[in-house]
Amino acid sequence: MKDVVTRFAPSPTGRLHLGHAYSALLAHRFARDRNGIFLLRIEDIDPGRARPEYVDFILEDLEWLGLSFDDAIVYQSERLPLYSAALGRLKERALVYPCFCTRSEIAAEVAASAAAPQGPDGPIYPGTCKHMSDDERVLRLQTEAHAWRLDTAKGVALAGPIHWQNDEGEVRAEPGQFGDVIVARKDAPVSYHLAVTIDDAAQGVTDIVRGMDLYASTHVHRLLQALLDLPIPHYHHHPLLSGADGQRLAKRHGAPSLASLRDAGADPGELATDLLGGRLPAGYSATGP
Ligand code: GLU
Repeated sequence: MKDVVTRFAPSPTGRLHLGHAYSALLAHRFARDRNGIFLLRIEDIDPGRARPEYVDFILEDLEWLGLSFDDAIVYQSERLPLYSAALGRLKERALVYPCFCTRSEIAAEVAASAAAPQGPDGPIYPGTCKHMSDDERVLRLQTEAHAWRLDTAKGVALAGPIHWQNDEGEVRAEPGQFGDVIVARKDAPVSYHLAVTIDDAAQGVTDIVRGMDLYASTHVHRLLQALLDLPIPHYHHHPLLSGADGQRLAKRHGAPSLASLRDAGADPGELATDLLGGRLPAGYSATGP
């Protein structure tokens, strides 16, 4: 049987909080229970938000929690050629198109339309740049900053019916509902969706243990796997932790960090046992799936 490989893939954009600890512990236990491999991947492709000092803090916090990793740590910032190659394959098959829109242009267009459906990254892109003439596209490509968007409808048509295995059973992937997501950003040669899909395949990840907040993104990742001929891992989306105010830690600014728990004298072994046993510190709760 194929070895089980899981990973924890934090973005170094802040200190880790209890929600991160929960996710890392679950992924670690999943691998260890199956004599598998547990990897750490630093998702540092966001030039505006990722900071090297946060990588150090992540390593410190995970060590404090008692988590050990197998193999070298992978940094997404060092793998840009891999992502460009994947983007190149999508370009060759005309599955992506350049998008010149600014955030405010998209917001204005969304505001002006009656329906404003939401996708994993915010409002669904209204498709402005998809319908541009070839001449205009060629001209603007030479001078204007641009992102690349997946032509999701085309991808869905090409891929046919696709599914993934989640804890509760088989899920039909319906990426069409999220519109044309970004696969390469204006300020970075890749987006979260493309990088994570490429890396999970390249690292041989068999089981993705991550929070319910990324469930919607899985529809998109599954489509990218189909279009790029990548293996399909199994998914285990876990509940999200909320603080005393009922707000999810993942969404909240100023959620108590692991460092603050450590400074307050928390015992990491006890904390890990409690979290894995479903016992949360006073004031916290778990929601979904
Ligand atoms: N880097 C992502 C985050 O910190 C997680 C990626 C994933 O687990 O797929 O939210």
